[in-house]
This record gives sequence, structure tokens and C-alpha cells, in this order.
Amino acid sequence: MYAEVILPIAPEGTFTYKVPDSMAQTVMRGCRVRVPLGRSKEYVGMVLALHDRKPSFRCRDILEQMDERPVVTSEQLSLWQWIANYYMCSLGDVLVAALPAGLKSVEGFKPRMEEYVLLDARFQQPEAMNVLRGMLRRAYSQQKALDTYLALAKEGNGVTVDELLNESHVTTAVVKALVSRGVFTRYKHEVGRVNDGPAEPTTKPKTLSDAQQEALDSVLKQFEQKNVVLLHGVTSSGKTEIYIHLIQRAIDEGRQVLFLLPEIALTVQITSRLKRVFGDRLGIYHSKYSDNERVEIWMRQLSDHPYDVILGARSAVMLPFRRLGLVIVDEEHENSFKQQDPAPRYHARSVAIVLAQMMGAKTVLGTATPCMESIHNCATGKYGYVRLSERYKGVELPEIEVVDIKDLRRRKMMSGPFSPRLMSAVREALDHGKQAILFQNRRGFAPTLICRTCGWTPRCQYCDVSLTYHKVTQRLVCHYCGTTYDVPRVCPACGDPHLLDRGYGTEKIEDLVREVFPQAKVARMDLDTTRSKKAYERIINDFSEGKTNVLIGTQMVSKGLDFGNVSVVGILDADNMLNYPDFRAYEHAFMMMSQVSGRAGRRGKRGLVILQTRQPDLPVIRQVVNHDLKGFYEDLKEERQTFHYPPYYHLVYVYLRHHHSDVVEMAANEMGNRLRSYFGNRVLGPDKPSVAVVKTQAIRKIIIKMENGLDLKAAKAYMKEAQRLLLQDKRYASLTVYYDVDPL
Ligand code: ADP
Ligand code: ZN
Ligand code: ZN
Repeated sequence: MYAEVILPIAPEGTFTYKVPDSMAQTVMRGCRVRVPLGRSKEYVGMVLALHDRKPSFRCRDILEQMDERPVVTSEQLSLWQWIANYYMCSLGDVLVAALPAGLKSVEGFKPRMEEYVLLDARFQQPEAMNVLRGMLRRAYSQQKALDTYLALAKEGNGVTVDELLNESHVTTAVVKALVSRGVFTRYKHEVGRVNDGPAEPTTKPKTLSDAQQEALDSVLKQFEQKNVVLLHGVTSSGKTEIYIHLIQRAIDEGRQVLFLLPEIALTVQITSRLKRVFGDRLGIYHSKYSDNERVEIWMRQLSDHPYDVILGARSAVMLPFRRLGLVIVDEEHENSFKQQDPAPRYHARSVAIVLAQMMGAKTVLGTATPCMESIHNCATGKYGYVRLSERYKGVELPEIEVVDIKDLRRRKMMSGPFSPRLMSAVREALDHGKQAILFQNRRGFAPTLICRTCGWTPRCQYCDVSLTYHKVTQRLVCHYCGTTYDVPRVCPACGDPHLLDRGYGTEKIEDLVREVFPQAKVARMDLDTTRSKKAYERIINDFSEGKTNVLIGTQMVSKGLDFGNVSVVGILDADNMLNYPDFRAYEHAFMMMSQVSGRAGRRGKRGLVILQTRQPDLPVIRQVVNHDLKGFYEDLKEERQTFHYPPYYHLVYVYLRHHHSDVVEMAANEMGNRLRSYFGNRVLGPDKPSVAVVKTQAIRKIIIKMENGLDLKAAKAYMKEAQRLLLQDKRYASLTVYYDVDPL
């Protein structure tokens, strides 16, 4: 017998190994095996298929079968194959992304063992206790340890050594002594790493308002016809409450639920809200969890007692499910559902829909600002559509005021990044005990430093970008590769000691707010202040509880947070988003501005948004102000049709990467020609992408635009074939070619 094995390395396809007789009865699709490769390497691979077709080459034996039962289900393996085909990557890439590290290494996952002590059986009877106390008469610390033990122990169970030490304040030597005297027996026991919080639900799902009930009924009704329904509800309309009802129904029917949220929206807020209703039936899975915790959840999903509900970020779509009935993708428009780098460059929304279909489950996509693709899928009847247009309790959507900062700058009326109107609005909020959110989509202190005399600006040594100045850490940072540099004391080009900082990052905004509003308590939320889960939660909790009054942040502050006391939101620089050189810039800017506005006035009084821009006359600004989604989509549709973009065309970006820019240039031209001979004028480029060197690798990009209806499978197969032919050329031995399908 032979096995087709997926290995965690880049080449396409699977590797064939011989199954030794000793494993012939036990090895299965979905089991991990240890296999040799090359002269000395060993890998943990995944059995994709078993067969008896003897290969034409000499194939080697599987060294070890690592699982008695599959750790990946048959449906998951089918999903992996779909991902590899659709996103044009290797099965190995998918394996690497799907499995937690503990399931990929030879070392593997070690269950966490905790050490316990148990009172020896001889002393379990009350009469024996006197004997024991006599024995310990002169050992005060040992008595203390015993008393603590008796207070902690329940029903003949042991007590963990850690707990005993913490509570009794005795040293480990004391516990050791008790063990050697035969008072305690020591043993080890496996414990879970995942803290489940309250086991029992503490609240019931809330009673829905009429509008919410109608929306729920409509979702259920449309599920009779459609596999996917878009729940388009304005911010704060109670989508989450509707999800809770949908989850409850699925559980009652004995089905599981996968609830996907963008990483950043996975806050304590939503987690504790769901925990309160579903107790320990809810499991959480995201990247801030340790690898061991993730393995534990994975294994539990395969057990007889899996979680009924998994709440997770992008990668939770890779977990095993046995009886999936419902998938919820909240904030479906969010870019972070797409994995950008490395491969597989998959979109969790698309993968979730495919997973649901494979398992006979339904999918709800929820958002206040659907992406164009989803709107289109509703228009063509592929998805059902449900609109929820009022906020819960009828709170009005915020009033959005546009401030023309170009004009104000000319009249020298701006205080740095703040217009007088924004300052007075924030001041008024603070005077009334209200809170403000200031949104600036750039982290660091200043996006550039520039020499006053010669115009020199620091750039990354490895990438073709300028460096961002971070004042807190006194470093220059490349936001592409993460390399940091010292801040030069004088200009390296001309020696002038005056380097000026240009532009505003969140750090600088924070400094300025502290200056202008010395009485305010200010917090900043961006990638730099939220490296740990704790830090992130503290910032949100402090703001929630009113311990801080002004929250400054990047797009992080726009994501699904529910604060009750925010009366003002300031969008400091809309242009920075609008001028981004990408066909999705307006779509992103519109969504980001609408979402961040949605944080204002969520309960009670109507909120105020101050939107600062140099281009107040742009139609997209007017559409944000009027909450005019319809008009916005109409304009966007026309533009996308005219310029051949999604949802009317499928995009594939072909990237070529090489150490030498002349090699990549040559290869890209050749690849472009090959592709043109098949795709004709659907091919654009090759061109230099906006950042043309990353980590010393030169990059070229070819765009392929394929109209709906074109055979995508055949098209992708052709691209792969063109790549194969190109790479036969020895000059391109170290060239990398990769694809971004449905790029964002
Ligand atoms: P969305 O998910 O659409 O932004 P949420 O579900 O967060 O909206 O609802 C906004 C606020 O209104 C939350 O604080 C939520 O608890 C409250 N809310 C929504 N619907 C109800 C309801 N039916 N009963 C009680 N409170 C509700
Ligand atoms: Zn200079
Ligand atoms: Zn760099």
C-alpha cells in the first residue's frame, strides 16, 4: 500500500511513500506520519490518500504513524484541496496555515501536567487524624501545610502543589518532607490550558425588538432557499442579538456554530456577551492564544464533547467540525479576513461559505457596510438579503459635519491636526463628562523625517519605503519588514542637526491632545500599544468604564466596539485613506469612516462626527455624511464596470520575486508575454508595485482581469503552466512566483 502525503513545504502536490506492513491496518486519511525527505530531513506530514498504485520511482517507507485516529477530518482535507486550487498555492502551504504548530512538529503537543498531592489513604479516616497531628506536633510548617490542605481538598481529591504553596506560604521543602514521611502522595494529572470562564450560562438571549424579530424571521425564511444570507444592519441595530438567537436555534437542533470575527474585534466585549448566554459551550480561538491552547481546542473539536460554538478569528475556519449547522461572519466587509502573506492568501469569508456548503450548513454575513462583492451576490440572487435600518431603541445615526482643513490651513487656523470645530466639540464633550474618539489611520509619531537643509529622508535598507519615526521607543521603523533603526542625530547627507518630522501619527496626536486638553485622561490604541491581549483589553475596559476620556487610535477603534458614552468622533485626516493608490481606496475609506462614525452616540443622545478633509467636495464625502450607502454603491458599480474590476471581473495578481532586479525584470516580461498569448489584453503589466523592494527582494506584478463567465479553472491551470515553463529556464532557478487571487 502507498500513501499520498502532504508535507509542510512549498512544492505543489503530494509526496508518495510506502506504507510498511506494520501500519497497513491502522494508517488512515487524516493521520499524521513521520517521513524522510532527501538525505537527512524528516517531516511530519498528513496522509491525504491511500492506494495500491506502485509509483514508477523508488519510494521510501513511512517512518512512524503519529496518530491512531485522524486529527484532520475528511471534510477538512477536501477543504484544503479547494483552498490550494482556488488560491493557487500548494497543499503544504494550506497545511502550515491550518494546523497549530504543536500538531506540525515531531516534538508535538505535550498535555499540560500539573502536580498534585493527596493525603495518604492511611490518614483519610477521622480517627487517624489525631495520630497524624501527633506526628507533626513539633513541625509547625508541616502542620500549617496540612491544615491548608484540609481546607482546600474536596471529597478525597488532591490539591495542586502550586495552590498549596500559595495558600500556606510554606516552602517546597516542607511539602517534600511531608511526602517523604508518607503523609502526602504525589501524582501528576493532565489539566486543560483553556480557561472556560463560567460554565453555566447566566443570562437568556434578550427579547428581540419588532424590527429585530422581523429580520431574524426573514433570515430563517431565506435560508429555505439560499445557503448564504447577508444581514445588512446599521451600526448598533442589534445584529449581535440576532446572531445569539440564531446560535441558540442551531444548538437546540444539535448543530455546531462557527462565529468568525476580525481578529481585532474579538474583544472581551463580545466574548463575555456570548459567554453569558452560552457558558462553556463556547470556545474561543485566535492568534493571541498560545499554540498549546490552540491544539487543545483542536483536539477537543475532534472528541465526543466538542464546543457547540466556536468564536474565532480568520484561522478558526480551519478547525474541525462534525455537525456544523451555522456559520456567522460578522463585519464581513473587513479586510483582515484575507490573509495577505504568506500563502495561502485566502479570504476566510469565502472559505467559510465553502466549508458551510460542504457540511450542509448555512451562512450569515453581517455588517453595516457590506462589501461590493456581497452586494452584487445579493443583487444576482445568489445570496439572500435582509436589511435592518434602525438602531436599537431608535437612536439616530450620528450627525456628520465636514470641516475643510485645506481652507483652514491657508488661513492659519489649524492647531496642528485639529480644526477649531473639532477642538470645541471635544472640549464640550469633556465638559459634559462625555468621551471622544479620535481616528488617525497611521501609527508611530511621524510618517517621515526630513532634513531641513537638503531634504534627506531615512529609508529602509531592505525595502523601498521611507521609515516612520516612533518617539516612544526613539526608533525609526520600517512598517513593511519591521526593521528598526537608530534616529540619526545629524543628517547623514549634509550634517545639519535639524531633522523635521512631517505628518501625524497616533503618537504625535496623543502628545498634542495631552497638550491641548491637559485635564483629559488619554489612551492610545494601535498596533504598538496592543501587542499583548492584556494591554488591548485594558485599553478597551478603561475606556468602557470611563477611566479614560479620549481614545486615539488607528482603524482598531472602528471595529465593532460598543461604548455607551462617546458623544464625539473625530476623523482627523480622511485624505490619507482616499488618496491611497488602489482601486478599493474609496470603498475602504467609506467603510472605515462609516464604521468609526458608528461608535458615536450608540445609546441615548445622537452623536456627532467631525470629518476633516482637504477634499470636502468629493461625492464620497457627501455620501458618508448622508449615510448614503445606496448612492455610494451606485457610483462604485459604474466605476468597477468601466474599469474592469470586481465584482464584474475576477482579479489575479501574479507576483515575481528575485534578489536581482534585472533578473526579475526579465522574467516578468517573459511571463507577461506568455500570459498575453492566452489572455490577450486581460493582462496588465508587468509593473513595479507601489513598494517594489521588500526585504531586499525585487518584486514585479502582473494583473489579470477576467470577466465573469470565463472558465476560471482553465485560466488558473494556464497560469500554472506558464509558470512551469518559465521556471525551466536555469537563469530563473531562484525566482519565486506566487499568486494573489481576489486580492484586496
Ligand atoms: P450591532 O451588533 O448591530 O452593532 P449590538 O447587538 O451590539 O448591535 O446592539 C447595540 C446595543 O443595543 C448593545 O448594547 C445591545 O446589548 C443592545 N441591544 C440590542 N438589541 C437589544 C434587545 N433586543 N434587547 C436589549 N438590548 C439590546
Ligand atoms: Zn541634510
Ligand atoms: Zn523594510
